[in-house]
Amino acid sequence: MSPILKVEHLAKSFDGVDAVKDVSFEVMPGELKALIGPNGAGKSTCFNMLMGQLKPSSGQVFLRGKPITGMPPRRIWRMGVGRTFQITGTYQSMTVAENVQMALISHHRRLFAVVPHAYRLYRDDALALLELVGMADQADRACSILAYGDLKRLELAIALSHRPGLLLMDEPTAGMAPRERVALMQLTADIVEERGISVLFTEHDMDVVFTHAHHIMVLNRGELIAEGTAAEIRADERVQQVYLGGGTLFAQDGPDA
Ligand code: ADP
Ligand code: MG
Repeated sequence: MSPILKVEHLAKSFDGVDAVKDVSFEVMPGELKALIGPNGAGKSTCFNMLMGQLKPSSGQVFLRGKPITGMPPRRIWRMGVGRTFQITGTYQSMTVAENVQMALISHHRRLFAVVPHAYRLYRDDALALLELVGMADQADRACSILAYGDLKRLELAIALSHRPGLLLMDEPTAGMAPRERVALMQLTADIVEERGISVLFTEHDMDVVFTHAHHIMVLNRGELIAEGTAAEIRADERVQQVYLGGGTLFAQDGPDA
């Protein structure tokens, strides 16, 4: 099996400061992979390079074997890389279903032709996506009154509307309560399984990471210092050293769990 995403020697410096240094990894089809690391490790910088928001200083990114390095975000999106936003990107004045319909219209590139009757276009497809994320019962509510966790689920439905092969999620559960976090990641894991898509995500909550990720990569000061299963990452001495200072990695269950 060949990787859906291949990253080779990716690097980014800001005014001479190395935010990301020589990072190489792969994401396989159907893989749910976590990129973890302390604040400032370079996770968001990596994500922004993968999505085209930032141009790498050096290195290469390949999607299904095709180079996408330095391409604009819209083009990368068109090639099947989805993302959820750290700040939710929904239209507050529209209903839940309308937001998904807009995304579907955009996916089918019919935006300009059909806006006058957009209210019914792709309505069924939108409802199916809302069903998938457990929000069908909220389809006709205004986005402006949604709870934060529901907005995040809507965002996931929007990201799925253009059928990405790879979904990038930078701190998808930021600002959520612990139970909501677990629920969102469980939902994401189910969708990965059901649709066979790949997901790369960052996450602070180590319980969530260790429970759901198939593989985990650890970034520290711009460098990948470890990669492996939850058990391998827990046992890794370098990882323990990095996290002991912050005290977050093993807070829930101790290093011997
Ligand atoms: P993380 O997402 O792991 O918390 P970031 O990728 O946001 O880390 O940041 C990595 C480093 O790069 C930090 O030292 C941060 O201050 C720096 N950095 C990120 N974005 C910029 C930018 N646009 N300009 C200058 N420095 C930046
Ligand atoms: Mg970040």
